[in-house]
Amino acid sequence: MALPTPRMKSSPVLWCTVLIIALIGTAAGTSGAGPASGTSPGGQAPAREAPGEWLGLSGRLRAIIETPTGLLQNPLFRATSSPLRTPGVHDVGLVTPKGDPFYILSILPFGEKKDGTLKTYRMGHWPQAAQSALNPGYAQPSGFIEVTPENQYTPVSEHFRLCDFLTHDQTEVWPKFLVLRPPLLDKLELLSEALRRRGLPSRLHVMSGFRTPRYNALGVGRGGRASHSRHMYGDAADVFVDADRDNMMDDLDGDGKVTVKDARLLYAVAEAIEEQYPRLAGGLSPYPATSAHGPFVHVDVRGVRARW
Ligand SMILES: [Zn+2]
Repeated sequence: MALPTPRMKSSPVLWCTVLIIALIGTAAGTSGAGPASGTSPGGQAPAREAPGEWLGLSGRLRAIIETPTGLLQNPLFRATSSPLRTPGVHDVGLVTPKGDPFYILSILPFGEKKDGTLKTYRMGHWPQAAQSALNPGYAQPSGFIEVTPENQYTPVSEHFRLCDFLTHDQTEVWPKFLVLRPPLLDKLELLSEALRRRGLPSRLHVMSGFRTPRYNALGVGRGGRASHSRHMYGDAADVFVDADRDNMMDDLDGDGKVTVKDARLLYAVAEAIEEQYPRLAGGLSPYPATSAHGPFVHVDVRGVRARW
């Protein structure tokens, strides 16, 4: 079971926030925030719509995340496959129904990680396990998204970017590596839309997304993180609603205070999403504020309902 992250101080959280603010200043949203590396259509090939199933239940996904081998098995890429062999963010001319770029994220196979380190980024070790055979959800990830200073703002769904999910550590080290599963993005997009439909502020802030085993272990055993946290598998996020961008949960219930009751309201909306979309079942739990962070909700898509 995932537990709170009491040792998370504001500075690493602010790190991504500062980058986001910098982006807003230069790109005015996500439409201009595409990857600076990888392949580009160069304006030559006519845009094609990404297959509908890649857009998720929300219709708002903007990337697929797959190993080169997996990508090359797709008939869509057989004719134009060679750039996709290179791990990275690729724009092959696919678009969403709204005309936004739809990216192909070719991931670095898991085996590229040596002794807990990938290039110079330290990640640690996923629990080896016998239990992987019993629960495929805890098998080691198939690979890692290589995140660079140039591609970190790539939109992976309508409201989220790669940088939102990075582990908050090793600030100076690039490239960083990320595990991220699109069903998590899908659930967060559905949650944001459900908030909007209820007339509530709908901007979700990811306080903690992916956590490397090395980083996760820093919080285990001190009333902190679970040793098998879903955050290590790229399908969990600790989120709060932050429309006013003060890096704190908004007063969702309008009682004039920001408390765990606001997290419980967010939790209730997420619960309704799971009832409507059982395919996105997973863990869900509201957390109160501590001295290190405000109230938040843990959301994951582990495949089975979990509450604590
Ligand atoms: Zn969590």
